[in-house]
Amino acid sequence: MDLKSLIREVPDFPKPGISYKDITTILANPQALSYSIGQLEVQCKDMQPDHVAGIESRGFIFGTPLADRLKIGFAPIRKSGKLPSAVHIVKYDLEYGTDQLELHQDAFMSGSRVLVIDDLIATGGTAAAAAELVEKTGCVVAGFGFVIELLDLKGREKLPDVPVVSLVQY
Ligand code: AMP
Repeated sequence: MDLKSLIREVPDFPKPGISYKDITTILANPQALSYSIGQLEVQCKDMQPDHVAGIESRGFIFGTPLADRLKIGFAPIRKSGKLPSAVHIVKYDLEYGTDQLELHQDAFMSGSRVLVIDDLIATGGTAAAAAELVEKTGCVVAGFGFVIELLDLKGREKLPDVPVVSLVQY
């Protein structure tokens, strides 16, 4: 299936110069939705994950059904102040300023292999922060899975040296 042809590109969103990759057009198409989850399953299962961690919020959309297919659990990595129990926190740099991601301290069994999922990797800052969070729980990052990768931004160079899967590249 030509997944790329089903991704809507929106120029100058959310600001001038950004070509926004809109995955709602994948989600609306049942064949494309099923295909994208199925491809993540096929390409990530050799990482032998014990758990999936999805990054808020589009990482939840792809990560939860993937975890279900792999018959493993799912943990949300969330923006600041959303998770109710004790959290680990990692701050990371944005183009202007900083942001932070949080993960429940008891999200995984210690030593678990965790597969990190998001819809898109751009500069890699978000996924690298997610990996740091996983490591703070005493677990191992088994790999990363993305629907979309923006190759020019070389985001995967920021990630730990583990397998990285992306279904569509720009
Ligand atoms: P980064 O930390 O630069 O790798 O950015 C990744 C995060 O920002 C992901 O959660 C993406 O959903 C979002 N993102 C960055 N660039 C785009 C883009 N061009 N289109 C859609 N989402 C993007």
